[in-house]
Amino acid sequence: MLILVLNAGSSSLKYQLINVQTAEVKASGLCERIGIDGVMKHEIAEHRKLQIDHPMPTHKEAIEFMLDILTHDDTQVIANIDEIAAVGHRVVHGGEYFNKSILINANVVKKIEELVPLAPLHNPAHILGIKICQELLPGKPNVAVFDTAFHQTMPEENYLYAVPHEDYTEHHLRKYGFHGTSHYYVSDQAIQMLDKKESKVIVCHLGNGSSICAVKDGKSIDTTMGLTPLEGLVMGTRSGDIDAGVIPYLMDKKGMDSNQMINYLNKKSGILGVSGISSDLREVIKAAKDGDHRSKICIEMMCNRIKKYICSYIGILGGVDAICFTAGIGENADLIREKSCANLEFLGIELDKKKNKKRESGNREINKDNSPVKIYVIPTNEEYVIAQDTYNLVKG
Ligand code: AMP
Repeated sequence: MLILVLNAGSSSLKYQLINVQTAEVKASGLCERIGIDGVMKHEIAEHRKLQIDHPMPTHKEAIEFMLDILTHDDTQVIANIDEIAAVGHRVVHGGEYFNKSILINANVVKKIEELVPLAPLHNPAHILGIKICQELLPGKPNVAVFDTAFHQTMPEENYLYAVPHEDYTEHHLRKYGFHGTSHYYVSDQAIQMLDKKESKVIVCHLGNGSSICAVKDGKSIDTTMGLTPLEGLVMGTRSGDIDAGVIPYLMDKKGMDSNQMINYLNKKSGILGVSGISSDLREVIKAAKDGDHRSKICIEMMCNRIKKYICSYIGILGGVDAICFTAGIGENADLIREKSCANLEFLGIELDKKKNKKRESGNREINKDNSPVKIYVIPTNEEYVIAQDTYNLVKG
């Protein structure tokens, strides 16, 4: 059964066509600069890559173009769109409405719309993607898979902020957490590798956006992102944790309004702001090796913040069986893994430097043979989870 997995962003659209029984990715791609000019990068199973400039004034043209390419004579991914059984949509915010994936109907769309104030950049694009698929693929089921759903098992004491309780009851103010599909996939893989009935796992999803999750017996009990994806770790362009007093102080000093301030913390801070070089960690690592002081400090800040959360989650879990690294940085940056685990031997976390440096694909163990705590690198696969959830909901 072929499932189309869509991740509609404000000016981009990522897609994969997945055979859910074999896990084969038949095609994948990315439409960028929607509403500006339009570029599509498309890859088909045998690693044939295409890059096409094509006008995409709106998401509708982007999705139409993607369907054209999938069925085009030259690419021959599928003969016609009827071969697509269903569409799985990544939806960033499901609030407290959704603790698992769901078949989309008018009521589900309405609830995703209600949650726009909590995810103003993401949920409107997801709704667009859903409505366009309903129009262009009539009769095909659509499923929503939420980034927040996995974290709905967090206990109250971990998701509430220490502000008056009415802010939660009246304004839905709480920690929701994000990257849930990735945290679910990676922790599930780790639990299989551990082969234990009861498990305590910490997942470090380190990419352009980063978060850590404490997972007990397969359930999220705490995570670093909060009401929005700004809280927690030092990220590509996001500050992560910051004293709330910084906000009025900087607004006053720099003459910024609240929108400009939140944009500053979301888009101009983090690795980019501290290093002054780039939000791309590869460039910052290179600059640090060349002696750039701010880049060196930036790497130390990132790793100390990761370490701080690993240790606090060990406290909350009451121990740990495995620490997992995933996403662009977690899977590829051995320096960050090494620094984040350094000096934690007293907690039984013993990284094997040689194994850590090896460039291998797939799930792998990078702890010393006798390390009481396992350290895993597990490539994330959110698209596969979305395809599987979609399949499970539509197969009946
Ligand atoms: P993601 O959002 O998961 O695609 O991750 C993007 C981040 O991964 C960027 O900051 C990249 O610089 C970083 N990244 C990817 N490959 C490497 C690498 N080999 N070394 C260090 N950082 C990397």
